[in-house]
Formats: sequence, structure tokens, C-alpha cells
Amino acid sequence: MAINFNQVEFIRSAASPEGFLRDGLPQLAFAGRSNVGKSSVINRLVNRKNFARVGASPGKTAQINYFRLDERAYLVDLPGYGYAKVSKAERGRWGRLMEAYFASGLITWGVMIVDARHRPTADDVTMAGWFYDTGCPLVVVANKLDKLKRSEIEPNLQTIRETLAFREGDRLVPFSAEKGTGKEELVQILSSAIET
Ligand code: GDP
Repeated sequence: MAINFNQVEFIRSAASPEGFLRDGLPQLAFAGRSNVGKSSVINRLVNRKNFARVGASPGKTAQINYFRLDERAYLVDLPGYGYAKVSKAERGRWGRLMEAYFASGLITWGVMIVDARHRPTADDVTMAGWFYDTGCPLVVVANKLDKLKRSEIEPNLQTIRETLAFREGDRLVPFSAEKGTGKEELVQILSSAIET
């Protein structure tokens, strides 16, 4: 049965590994550069306006937010990266938390949000590598598609696949959190991810 993404509840935030959820439900881990639209993608996916917070404040950059989907899986909102204005201490906290989560073996599927307009950044490439190291499948969401001309779409998607060095089975979903493009495809991929 398809996952009902409207059936979503916030469970908790974790700022250290003691807060990680380990109850065996599949975990869909969402990562992305700050401002890429990760919160907007999550809000679109669960049909809420302000569920994941758009434009999260700098003080909250080192915590993981858990949402339970349809009692069947967790949507795990990882702290964004590449935010220019965070302190060295904050960056250290972010690194330790992410390292622990990626080493935990808890990730079932990776979901990485990138900007459809640009070649993925060095940070994006590093993040994809972290997902690859866990051995989990990855779906990359190329967000802000509405800002592209039609003729730019295919070449940009190809650049993203190449730059992130896609493995067989990795998926790329052209998406617009603003317009809703790609939502059904992403729901379908994540539903089957949870079911298998
Ligand atoms: P986050 O920091 O990754 O969580 O990014 P946010 O969700 O806060 O979005 C950052 C900015 O990008 C906001 O101004 C959003 O309105 C805008 N944004 C997000 N998704 C889209 C999209 O698909 N298209 C357009 N045009 N803007 C978007």
C-alpha cells in the first residue's frame, strides 16, 4: 500500500547520537545545502505549508529532525550544509552529528536535494560520497526546476548525474517545490523504498 505522506507527525529533534531513533522503522534521510529548498521540498511532499521550517535560523543548524510518515517510516531532516555564517564551533557540532548519523547504519534511503540550475558544489559531491559509503540507494531531487528554460533541463540533469557520479540504480527527480513538479514521482520512489 502506498505511503500516505499526508499522515505525518513531528517526533523529535536530536542534537547528539543519544537522540537517534533506533526502533527499526525505515529512515529516509534528507540532506541538502542551506537554501537549496530542502524545507520547501519536504513541505510539498507532506502537503503542509510550514511543516519543515523554511529558512531555518543559524542556531538550529546542528540538529536532526524526525518526522514519522504514516506510522511506517521516518523522514529524517538532516541539518543543511554550506551555510556561510555559522561559527567554527557550530560547524564542528554539525560534523560530529552527521558523522555519527552516517556511521549509525540507520539510513535506509538517501534523499539529496540539489539546485537544478547549477552544477553540484564540492559540498554536494562530498555529501553524495557519504551516502555512497553507507551503501544505501540515493534519490537526488533537482529542485527549483521552475527557474530553468525548457532547453536547459536535460543538459543540467546530465551534469548533475555526472558530477555526483551516479551509481546504477540511483535516481534523479526533476522537481519544483514551488510548482509541485515531480512530487508524484518522488512519492512513488519513496513509497517503494519503504516497502522493499
Ligand atoms: P532550505 O534552507 O534548504 O530549507 O531552503 P528553503 O526551503 O528555506 O528555501 C530557500 C529559498 O528557496 C526560499 O526562498 C524558497 O521560497 C525558495 N525555493 C524553494 N524551493 C523552490 C522552488 O522549487 N522554486 C523556486 N523558484 N524557489 C524555491
